[in-house]
Amino acid sequence: MLIKRDAKVQASADAPYLGADLARILLNKDRQPELACTEAWTKALLREPSFGQDESLGPQARFERTYRWLDIIRERINEELAIGPDEIVRDPRRLVCVTGLLSILDGAAWAVANIHYLLALRTVLEAADRSPAVKAVADEMLKGRTVGCFVLGELSTGTNAIAIETEARYEPQTREFVLNTPTAGSLKWMPNSWFQRERKVAVLFARLVTKGEDEGVFPFLVPLDSPGVEARWIGVEPTVNLDNSCTWLRDVRIPKDYLLVDSEIELTDEGEFRCTEPSRRRRLLRSIDRLSFARLSGSLTCITAAQAVVFLAVNGAREKRVFSPGSPGVSARDCSNFYLPLVDAVATMYALRLRYNSIVNGCSPKPSEEREQFMAREASILKAFVSLSTFEVIGICRQRTGSHGMFGANRILENLIGNHAIFTAEGESDVLLLKVGSDLVRGIDYKPPARARPGARSRLLSWLCRRELAVRRSLRVRMFLAQRRRPLTEVWKENTDELMRLGRIHAERLVAESLESAAREAQAKGGEAGGILHLLSQIYTSGLVLRDGAWFGGRPWASRRVLRGLARARLASAQALAPRLDELVEAFEIDNAIMRAPIGESKPLSELSKLLDGGIPKGHSVMQSYHESRHWGMRRCPATETGSEAVSVTPEGD
Ligand SMILES: Cc1cc2nc3c(=O)[nH]c(=O)nc-3n(C[C@H](O)[C@H](O)[C@H](O)COP(=O)(O)OP(=O)(O)OC[C@H]3O[C@@H](n4cnc5c(N)ncnc54)[C@H](O)[C@@H]3O)c2cc1C
Repeated sequence: MLIKRDAKVQASADAPYLGADLARILLNKDRQPELACTEAWTKALLREPSFGQDESLGPQARFERTYRWLDIIRERINEELAIGPDEIVRDPRRLVCVTGLLSILDGAAWAVANIHYLLALRTVLEAADRSPAVKAVADEMLKGRTVGCFVLGELSTGTNAIAIETEARYEPQTREFVLNTPTAGSLKWMPNSWFQRERKVAVLFARLVTKGEDEGVFPFLVPLDSPGVEARWIGVEPTVNLDNSCTWLRDVRIPKDYLLVDSEIELTDEGEFRCTEPSRRRRLLRSIDRLSFARLSGSLTCITAAQAVVFLAVNGAREKRVFSPGSPGVSARDCSNFYLPLVDAVATMYALRLRYNSIVNGCSPKPSEEREQFMAREASILKAFVSLSTFEVIGICRQRTGSHGMFGANRILENLIGNHAIFTAEGESDVLLLKVGSDLVRGIDYKPPARARPGARSRLLSWLCRRELAVRRSLRVRMFLAQRRRPLTEVWKENTDELMRLGRIHAERLVAESLESAAREAQAKGGEAGGILHLLSQIYTSGLVLRDGAWFGGRPWASRRVLRGLARARLASAQALAPRLDELVEAFEIDNAIMRAPIGESKPLSELSKLLDGGIPKGHSVMQSYHESRHWGMRRCPATETGSEAVSVTPEGD
């Protein structure tokens, strides 16, 4: 048996401090105090009345709100955090903290801020030194109201960015590029480029053609109000408050300076193209290196959103009573079908956040080729694995909130859809795992699990290491032998599923490793937090093993009897942690003053039932009435010129 069955965790005298102790570890407060302060600053900002929620807004009013929020966030970042151009280019980790927490407020707020800062502005700033015109745009994006978009994907190419067709043809006589969308399949799909309240500029990817030669795909700066740019709103995506659109270009002219490349690429006025990198694929990869920090932010936002949903599920069940034989009703949270999946979800969320911390700690504040490689690799694996894992976590928690979880005001479905958006955008997560698996098989940048001295790694974690090495070895042999007889494409197609699985197995090992090492570190310091993390680590890692029972069960060292024992021990650990769910979740430091979800209140059902005293106004939903009575007075404005009804929200008493 691998987990001690008598591993009981009792509430002890220092229990009130457990949540705070766990929060210190989970939020990386000792290692990265400045980043932890930035997270706290962001939460304090989002608690302010300007960030009020309102379920009754129509799409246009929601877009308006999203961009108004971006204005406020930008102003406050400038005034209070003073994050300048140098920091954005060299070490954007504080920005990742700000953008990564925005999902507690709203998924669209995250998307817009992430795209503006980490994708568009970073790219523009990197090229700003080379051109006063580009610098002027960068200044407007940083300090003014210009919003940056990132326009890479096309309708028919999706994740396969190297195949995009949009063309930027250089004209030496005018020293301009002329951009065109040549086919229906090359419509730009689906940037937030439709809603025009203020100026929008795009970092837009197109094939650079000069002297009749296609030099590959590069980013260009394209003001979206340029003649010839057309954008059409795709339509409402349920709960996504973003103006995603389909965008195309007809003879759009931009100056030569708007080619956003570094000093290693040169295009002369006469149209001579010079670049030290011969591979078109690597030229593109260099241009989109900055996706790494956006992926880090996507991972943090997925983690935060899922932690929020776990918090809502645990909190929302406080007063819920369910049928049980021989009793008029028991607390839902005392039923094992209820608490066991929640303990699982909590363990997953600890593991993911601690992996995120390991990457942030491993990322040097100084830019270098080595750092870019580290970030490109780790952020891809993290984003892919986090979005996969949190998808399951949110589903489990939604089910535990019953019908309450279906309402917009409770923010759970919004986070589920937001999770899907992050899964697909910024590199489809399965495709990222496929690339990881393929790199592993080819030995690119692969660091096999280090040999550990006896006792330095738990038995379960060493099982995960053995699985990774064995699956990699057998896939290498199989693909190598097959390639001698059949074309590479055929062998590849046949093995994509197994390559993705290898990518996932690798990610699982890394995540389990981070959780285990945090547990060991905390245990070495003494105190209760170490013991709790140790149990969470056992629950998480044994869950991974049992889920792949078909593989582990066939090993001589993991007989069916051993696996059955593991399942029993896992259950005992989860039961031991169940009474501590509130404290475990408290460490996420999710603040319901930001989400304003009824089931996030200290007495969720009592709060809602109070509505009956005041009566529910005619035509109002219960959740909407709850919002109005609890937090906000709403003042309806006359219809705007676009025909949508704008609603301005003012805090109660204002
Ligand atoms: C909410 C949202 C916002 C977006 N915002 C932007 C934006 O601002 N700017 C922008 O440029 N784009 C944006 N996009 C588009 C995004 O970049 C694309 O959706 C993404 O690149 C995936 O492309 P796709 O949707 O065509 O899916 P595909 O890449 O076609 O994926 C569909 C399926 O095919 C599989 N697949 C794909 N490639 C392979 C392969 N090589 N081998 C095996 N299987 C494969 C995938 O696993 C998946 O299951 C946004 C998307 C979303 C959902």
